[in-house]
Amino acid sequence: MSDKPVGDGRIEEPFRHLLDAAVLGEAVAAETATGAEYVLEAVEVHKRYGRTEVLRGVSFGVHRGDVKAILGPSGSGKSTLLRCLALLEPVDHGEVRLEGQRLGVREGQGGRVASLPERTLARERSEIGMVFQRFNLFPHLTALGNVMLGLTEVRGRSKDEAREIAQAMLDRVGLAARRDFYPGELSGGQQQRVAIARALVMNPKVMLFDEPTSALDPELVGEVLAVMEELAREGMTMVVVTHEIGFARRVASRVLMMDGGEIIEDATPDEFFGNPRHERTRRFIEAVD
Ligand code: ADP
Ligand code: MG
Repeated sequence: MSDKPVGDGRIEEPFRHLLDAAVLGEAVAAETATGAEYVLEAVEVHKRYGRTEVLRGVSFGVHRGDVKAILGPSGSGKSTLLRCLALLEPVDHGEVRLEGQRLGVREGQGGRVASLPERTLARERSEIGMVFQRFNLFPHLTALGNVMLGLTEVRGRSKDEAREIAQAMLDRVGLAARRDFYPGELSGGQQQRVAIARALVMNPKVMLFDEPTSALDPELVGEVLAVMEELAREGMTMVVVTHEIGFARRVASRVLMMDGGEIIEDATPDEFFGNPRHERTRRFIEAVD
């Protein structure tokens, strides 16, 4: 691979620095000035599909700079939870809050809520970065085109500005030399790094990752985890659904176990892996470790 290696200390400047300089400008101070307790918070989130109750009252909060790893068996509702947090799905009951602001609805008088117009929803969504298991890049756009899109379409940046920011971010994830390649010409690991760059250029308040390495060949997992680990080190607030136990142990500030649409355990990595409270957690760890 001719791309610049990542995650081995050769990303000298913090991501934050790049974001501050290139993306944020004068908005930097405002971003950190809200003083809200949680960056992102789920409050009693319920979600059902037809007769299936997929989320059964999920509550948790993510502090600034936290990395929450979510583990749990297939079908336990992890992807649904992330999609609700990212405003890609409306919740049936409960709330999603970003820096204390309730998302996805407009709160009217007497506690009445109305859904938001699509344009407002898009703006709220753009505050939350999402990385999917299967990358979800636009196949007809180059790496650069994919990373630029949100900047021009959602943020209203000029093409020139967007290109500059996008190129810098592709450089950050070690893909400067691949910017004119189409997704189909990139490895899975490279595509996932493009997807991460695409989310990062929007300067999200939090990044959500849904099993970002599960679709990758084993030899490509490391390059993606390295980018994520670097991001965590730079202080990015992150929620990561993963089966990568090593990553959860090393990087997460808390590890959560989801089962049957509920969070049944929320502990430090040491507690979680060393002395889980739940028998179901213990069995899950033994199965994936
Ligand atoms: P996980 O990511 O933990 O594997 P998911 O959130 O994908 O779990 O799915 C949880 C449950 O919700 C599963 O039973 C799944 O079949 C169901 N489900 C997920 N998305 C949909 C959907 N769009 N329509 C109907 N059922 C769904
Ligand atoms: Mg899933």
